[in-house]
Amino acid sequence: MLKVLIPLEEGGETRVAGSPDTVKSLSKLQLLCTVEKGAGIASGFSDESYVSAGAQLVSPKENSVWAETNLLLTVGPLNNAQPKLSAGALVVGQLAPHGNANLLQLLQQQQLSAISLELLPRISRAQSMDVLSSQANIAGYKAVLLAAAALDRYMPMLMTAAGTVQPAKVLVIGAGVAGLQAVATARRLGAVVKVSDVRAAAREQVESLGARFIEPPVQGVPGEQGGYAKEATATFLEAQRQGLAEQLGDIDMVICTAQVPGRPAPLLLTKEITELLRPGAVVVDLAVAQGGNCELSQVGETINHKGVLVIGADRLPASVPHHASSLYARNVAALLEVLISKSGEMKLDPEDPLLDPCLVSLEGVLRRTDLVPNWSLGEGVKP
Ligand code: NAD
Repeated sequence: MLKVLIPLEEGGETRVAGSPDTVKSLSKLQLLCTVEKGAGIASGFSDESYVSAGAQLVSPKENSVWAETNLLLTVGPLNNAQPKLSAGALVVGQLAPHGNANLLQLLQQQQLSAISLELLPRISRAQSMDVLSSQANIAGYKAVLLAAAALDRYMPMLMTAAGTVQPAKVLVIGAGVAGLQAVATARRLGAVVKVSDVRAAAREQVESLGARFIEPPVQGVPGEQGGYAKEATATFLEAQRQGLAEQLGDIDMVICTAQVPGRPAPLLLTKEITELLRPGAVVVDLAVAQGGNCELSQVGETINHKGVLVIGADRLPASVPHHASSLYARNVAALLEVLISKSGEMKLDPEDPLLDPCLVSLEGVLRRTDLVPNWSLGEGVKP
């Protein structure tokens, strides 16, 4: 029987990669689930709820437990301080593989297989496994709530005995999963919303949510690959910045979500452009960990710049841990339902279009060295 380990996450991570519900579904796949004590507490899942679902509780970071694990399910990346897994074990998680030479080295040295969930293809078969979507949805929702709580005015239009209050004006930059959820949340709160994106397909989605689409500059629009925007040229970004600057005069809130996978986030609000916002306006930058759409944002910090609050919000899904974990765990379980046969055997087929892009390593043979540009193949690695 293959052993699954759901560890207690580290570094302030509140989420967990398996819930009592998914422990039940994994047990139906003939997997034996072990859960580190306290792993689900921050997400509202007690140790007892895992035991009732059929899991075994183990002490955190027990070397012998990790050595016997066949399948490690994680939210955050691997690190060298964790106990060692045995050769051939599979790690499934958000492994932050871009530019992560340490990860490749660790996978190679310990001869591990690894699926990096950020790299799942956006194909219909993978929709139920899409952690980027389930977590970005939460980030977009929470970003608007954070900004609304910090804003010096109402979001909706109100007609009161003391007079009429105009609705807040919101600019959302980037209309991917997080951006569209931010639009929907701001609209539900009664705001008037404008949206900037570079993908033509975004227009219809934005308009269907009752927001206005801001046309990107005509010249040099970046192309698309697999539904993602490609990186824009410096000339295009400069033109886009000028266009956005013209929109900012009456804006109360900016939610920044523009990203390009594996590349720095496009810089769209320079310091000078941010200064066009009125004092009291709020910027929430969800792209801050990738360099940010706003020049002033800093990871995990709230900065008051000439009266404009700039919130560098990099870990918003972890601030809604119950639903973030529940959905993440279901994404992971949906993937395992494909990888595990009814008799409880695991098959990793690198030819499967679902696995090809996200199977970073197969038993220590690295398959995605392209993610780390200067990575040189170590000894014993098949090119
Ligand atoms: P993302 O996080 O990589 O980027 C967020 C948004 O930023 C994207 O809409 C992108 O076009 C936009 N962006 C990039 N550069 C920009 C710039 N200079 N100015 C303004 N906006 C810019 O994207 P995501 O949220 O992961 O979604 C990417 C795409 O994948 C979307 O089209 C989404 O609808 C699609 N998607 C498909 C599936 C599926 O089919 N299974 C699932 C989820 C998302």
